[in-house]
Amino acid sequence: MLNRIDLRGGVRDPRRLLPRAQLDVSVAVERIRPLVEAVREHGYPAIREASERFDGVSPEVLRVPVEAIAEAEGTLAPEVRAALLESITRARKVHADQRRTDHTTQVVPGGTVTERWVPVDRVGLYVPGGLAMYPSTVVMNVVPAQAAGVRSLVVASPPQKENGGLPDARVLAACALLGVDEVYAVGGAQAVAMLAYGAAVDAEGAAHCDPVDMITGPGNIWVTAAKRLLRGVVGIDAEAGPTEIAILADDTADPAHVAADLVSQAEHDPLAASVLVTPSVELVEAVERELARQVPATKHAERVTTALTGEQSGVVLVDDLDAGLRVVDAYAAEHLEIQTRDAREWALRVRNAGAIFVGAWSPVSLGDYCAGSNHVLPTGGCARHSSGLSVQSFLRGIHLIDYSEQALREVAPHVVTLAGVEDLPAHGRAVQVRFPEGLA
Ligand code: NAD
Repeated sequence: MLNRIDLRGGVRDPRRLLPRAQLDVSVAVERIRPLVEAVREHGYPAIREASERFDGVSPEVLRVPVEAIAEAEGTLAPEVRAALLESITRARKVHADQRRTDHTTQVVPGGTVTERWVPVDRVGLYVPGGLAMYPSTVVMNVVPAQAAGVRSLVVASPPQKENGGLPDARVLAACALLGVDEVYAVGGAQAVAMLAYGAAVDAEGAAHCDPVDMITGPGNIWVTAAKRLLRGVVGIDAEAGPTEIAILADDTADPAHVAADLVSQAEHDPLAASVLVTPSVELVEAVERELARQVPATKHAERVTTALTGEQSGVVLVDDLDAGLRVVDAYAAEHLEIQTRDAREWALRVRNAGAIFVGAWSPVSLGDYCAGSNHVLPTGGCARHSSGLSVQSFLRGIHLIDYSEQALREVAPHVVTLAGVEDLPAHGRAVQVRFPEGLA
């Protein structure tokens, strides 16, 4: 079922040989550009038209009434409520430990630099809702933003035909559990544009969504493309697009577990990627047998089959685990599982991954819901330079520079010299003018 890439014998640069979706986000950017422009120019009518086209509903009012959010909480099944609360408690524990404290460095006597950590003022949190519903993503977006101290939080999630044009009821209930009351029934690129530019959200123009300073959260290729297009107009976290799992495994891995974990990520999206990296041909054959058994029995068999047989998924055969480590580092997976002997030691040697799941008892599904870690993670190789969502994502470090007259006097000749080197004499003058008697 899985494509095979044989890298045994060694390759200098495995990156270009690895299975990777040829999802050209830049092509998607061009497709959604007119929609983003229309939302910027017209607001509500453009959003409504897109919702009709892509979601099959045309809501009269895009802002979800606060009563509907509270009502949704009331409809939660007790076990779903308990599971969401457990997920929130664990995520809060981990994210509380990520808070940063201000720090002052005394550079010289009378000269200090203080780094203040200041939360972003207003944040738009995208919660997907196309092929699957993601109340868990409400938790993963909101918990770090709240722990960072963000004052104004707004959630956008696609309108659902089955819920009268409101977002999924479990998504709304998760908002209620977390105390979020500004929610819009808008999905896709139109949601990202609405959050970035602000827009009227009803036909009369009586209600508005004010623009946000930053947008976070995962989504499909259209959401990812809109985030890329609007980066700069607003801050964005990272490109958290169609999901990926890579598994580095040896002959100690249980093929039934490996197959189940590959299938579990493939069920997100036909564009999801599931990649197994191993030196063990026996494991590959056993995993293939398991897939032949597990895939037809899974609920979303068609979507899973498309994802597993797509060019973005496959098995990479390597000479040994050291070579496997080079491959997973080159791939930089959103989720990386290590199912080997001494899994923790191998995990500590990995350089590039969104999150690493260590050993037989830490599957990705645990991290998707209830490990305490965040599941909004960089995809498409972005883990080479970006991290998953965290408290830090919502903070800006602002330097406070505070020098006394004497401390400035002492360093002034260096400032004047460097200003001269850069041919910016007014810079030097701005210091000299403070010492009319001259610099000794
Ligand atoms: P989604 O909310 O991202 O997308 C649905 C929206 O896409 C719709 O509201 C619609 O407006 C828009 N759309 C659909 N077809 C379109 C088209 N042809 N042109 C323009 N817009 C269109 O929900 P989804 O589709 O279920 O995707 C969720 C994605 O999020 C999956 O790929 C999943 O793997 C990913 N995900 C990633 C992470 C991560 O951290 N990387 C976490 C959770 C989910």
